Amino acid sequence: MSESSALEAAGSFAELNLSPEIQRALDEMGYQTPTPIQKQAIPLVLAGRDLMAQAQTGTGKTAAFALPLLQKMQPFANTSTSPARHPVRALVLAPTRELAIQVYESIVTYGKHMPLRSTVVYGGVGLDTQTPQLRAGVEVLVATPGRLLDHAGSRTLSLAQVEYLVLDEADRMLDMGFLPDLKRILSLLPQNRQTLLFSATFDDNITRLAQSFLRDPLKVEVARRNTAAETVEQVVHKAREEDKVDALVRVVNAREISQAIVFTRTKLTADRLGRQLLRRSLDAAVIHGDKAQSERLLALDRFKRGETRLLVATDIAARGIDIAELPCVVNYELPYSPEDYVHRIGRTGRAGAEGLAVSLVAPDEERLLAAIEKFIHRSLPFVPLPDIAPSAAPAWTAPVAVPELAPATQRGRRREPVCALLMPPVQAKEAPRPE
Ligand code: AMP
Repeated sequence: MSESSALEAAGSFAELNLSPEIQRALDEMGYQTPTPIQKQAIPLVLAGRDLMAQAQTGTGKTAAFALPLLQKMQPFANTSTSPARHPVRALVLAPTRELAIQVYESIVTYGKHMPLRSTVVYGGVGLDTQTPQLRAGVEVLVATPGRLLDHAGSRTLSLAQVEYLVLDEADRMLDMGFLPDLKRILSLLPQNRQTLLFSATFDDNITRLAQSFLRDPLKVEVARRNTAAETVEQVVHKAREEDKVDALVRVVNAREISQAIVFTRTKLTADRLGRQLLRRSLDAAVIHGDKAQSERLLALDRFKRGETRLLVATDIAARGIDIAELPCVVNYELPYSPEDYVHRIGRTGRAGAEGLAVSLVAPDEERLLAAIEKFIHRSLPFVPLPDIAPSAAPAWTAPVAVPELAPATQRGRRREPVCALLMPPVQAKEAPRPE
């Protein structure tokens, strides 16, 4: 396996020689320069190489594989209506429905000026709803592994003509126990294909997977596995379990956080927290693996449109969610795995934007904090909770929730300089006094 670091990276999309159709889509999206993973990966994929790419969500990894694959498929794109003329040529596997949908949407956007058909299949909805599109023929298929096998088993699709395979977030697929499914899928694919493996982390298991799935792959890497974006401010508050809801409400109001994903470890805590926040007039929605697919999509859509202030989520449900300019992530409970901490806070501070990651740490979580600090090679000292007068909460100025929340006079009184909120309580209180 050779390293690609010596490769000259392209400085602009023009240097990548993408087709006018793709370039037009990029122009419409306002993409001006390729991200580091795109600079490295696109020329290699165009050259037909297998790839092991280490890149987290938020680095632009979807376009890193989608753009060159669309480009390579283009000369053969056809407008025939015959299903036989539209076999699956590119298969993208993703661990969760949310990520699958997101990747699919990106592919549709990047390929909007090309006559390629694509679709996405995932579990949690009836097989029948997805069958007609598959039967009609699609060239690009995005799928979660289990649902793909369901369809393959019921002969709604054939994978015999797949030329390109992408394993997206391969580490998470292994974490979620998809290895047997991946092996079965592999046995349905032609040997002669190009395979791209994307993973936020590379451990022995991923390397073994790559050895059995890939052919003489090149390795590209854009961020070390244990680095968080430099632009994310990481704040840690002490909060006993029973005080966490209060602490969360206080942080959100005091720092005037317009939107945040709030992570819990369990579905149970997520549901309970969602109810508690609503009772405190904080507009919150909950997503986790037990929610119906339609509920999850609705909650996500509303959150993306800015209609919900807080999205309470478990790690798996939130995996891969890409929300442009998400200002804040809250660790209501620290994750058991330090890598999940990096994934969580990677939802904010994307593409160079500033982000805030707040962790509420109970005494029995301090050992988890220590493990995180070791993992990210950085100490995260406790800072006092922002101090606000009880009369000032709650208030939020988003259009949907405000009228029921607090009288305008209360909202007006609450505003404090954000910098004061970072100081210890005494200073924060003293700062506004006239004398
Ligand atoms: P991803 O890592 O694929 O989830 O992408 C993260 C975000 O970056 C998505 O919202 C993309 O639309 C956006 N993005 C990807 N590539 C570029 C680029 N070259 N310029 C600007 N934004 C980009």
